[in-house]
Amino acid sequence: MSDSSNICLSCGLCCDGTLIGFVQVERKEIPMLKGLLNIEEDSTGDGVFLHPCNNYCDGCTIYSKRPKQCAKFNCGLVTSLEQKELDFNSAIEIINTVKQKKIAIEKMLVILHIKLKSPSFYFKMVELKKILEKKKSESSLTPDHLALISDLDQLDSLLPTKFNISAY
Ligand code: SF4
Ligand code: SF4
Repeated sequence: MSDSSNICLSCGLCCDGTLIGFVQVERKEIPMLKGLLNIEEDSTGDGVFLHPCNNYCDGCTIYSKRPKQCAKFNCGLVTSLEQKELDFNSAIEIINTVKQKKIAIEKMLVILHIKLKSPSFYFKMVELKKILEKKKSESSLTPDHLALISDLDQLDSLLPTKFNISAY
C-alpha cells in the first residue's frame, strides 16, 4: 500500500465532518447510492449528503461505489506526499495537529457553554464563527473566547495551506 493510501487510513478528516460539511451527488449517481447514503434531492434532481458520512469506518466502506465528488477530491496532503514535498511523518503530524485543535475547541465550547446545533464539526465551526463575530461586535469577548478564536484561526489556516480546502 502506498504512503498516500496509508495516510488516509490514519486520517479520515475529509469524511468524518471535520474538514468538509457535505458532498454533492449527481442525479445519475443517485439510484446506485440511495441505499448507501442519506441523500437529499434538490429541485433540480441532483443530491447532497451531509457529513459525518455514514460510510466512514477507518476508511471508506463503499470505496468502489463512492460518489464522483469523493473520488475527485484533490487533497493537498495526499498531493504533497505523492510529489514528495512532505514525508509520511510530517503528514501525520499535520493530521494530529488538526485533531488536537478540534479537541481543544470542543473542550472550550463545553467550558463556555456554547451549544452548536450542526451534526458535523465543519458546520459547527461555521456557526461558531457567527457567534464569535457577534460577541466581537458587542465587545463581550473573554480570554477563553480569544483562546477559541486563536485555535479556530490556526485550523482555518491549515485547511487551505495543507489540505487544499476552503477555510470554514
Ligand atoms: S483529508 Fe486527505 S489525507 Fe485525510 S483522509 Fe481525506 S484525502 Fe486522506
Ligand atoms: S462515501 Fe466514502 S469517500 Fe465519500 S465521504 Fe463517505 S466515506 Fe468518505
